[in-house]
Amino acid sequence: MARCERHGLTAIRVRARQEQAELHAAQGDHRAAFTEHKLFHEQLVELQSAQRDARARAVQAMYETSEARRQSRRYRELSLRDPLTGLYNRRHIDEQLIRLLGPGGLPAASASVALVDLDHFKRVNDTFGHDVGDAVLRRVAGLLQAAVPADGARALGGSFAARMGGEEFLLVLVDTAPPDAAALAEELRTAIAGHAWEDLTGAVPVTASIGVTGAADETPAALLGRADALLYRAKAQGRDRVVTDA
Ligand code: GH3
Ligand code: MG
Ligand code: MG
Repeated sequence: MARCERHGLTAIRVRARQEQAELHAAQGDHRAAFTEHKLFHEQLVELQSAQRDARARAVQAMYETSEARRQSRRYRELSLRDPLTGLYNRRHIDEQLIRLLGPGGLPAASASVALVDLDHFKRVNDTFGHDVGDAVLRRVAGLLQAAVPADGARALGGSFAARMGGEEFLLVLVDTAPPDAAALAEELRTAIAGHAWEDLTGAVPVTASIGVTGAADETPAALLGRADALLYRAKAQGRDRVVTDA
């Protein structure tokens, strides 16, 4: 029994107490049997509480692990989002374009991008203030998000809308050839121009210029550079229009 205690073998100790109590009882020594039974009971309670603690610790450890995993997923997701609009940010764009265009990426003809820049946005800020400018950006983000094809629901690798920075946005359109991307961009342009902006900007219109091009076997910088050149042409041609090389 002493050895059991030295080794902390509570379960064995408990069984030994029980056997000892039974032995005393069998010998008719009821006082000794009762004392032994009391010790047995105390140690059983102690053992059960130790087992409960161990179970609780195991459950806690499991919870903490899954909680940590959930938190780190959440932080990663947050790090890929633009705080103002909730759209994906530049970091996500860079990661996804590298995946898309890199070795083993999608066939070149099946992906396109639309680079969207608001027209004379500085005027909105200057006339109505930065807060109204922010509200316009959030609403434009909603219109962009609504323009994303259904495949965008795919967790990874689908089409998505993102904020490049400032008043510049990007649609990455997977499984979409440039002519279809241009048609989609034209729908987005009319949705922005036709939106009821009066409550925010009164008589000042909100419009966007859009450059659309197809992804080839190239770097993200080359793809975005081409889209930017087309966007610049849309600006030069009078804004509120889509220019594509499709
Ligand atoms: P253009 O048609 O040539 O694109 O003219 P623009 O006025 O839209 O372009 P410009 O680049 O001169 O101005 C962009 C403005 O966007 C300037 C900046 O203050 C504003 N802007 C950038 N980021 C934000 C933002 O997060 N919130 C607000 N409210 N304004 C922003
Ligand atoms: Mg602009
Ligand atoms: Mg701009």
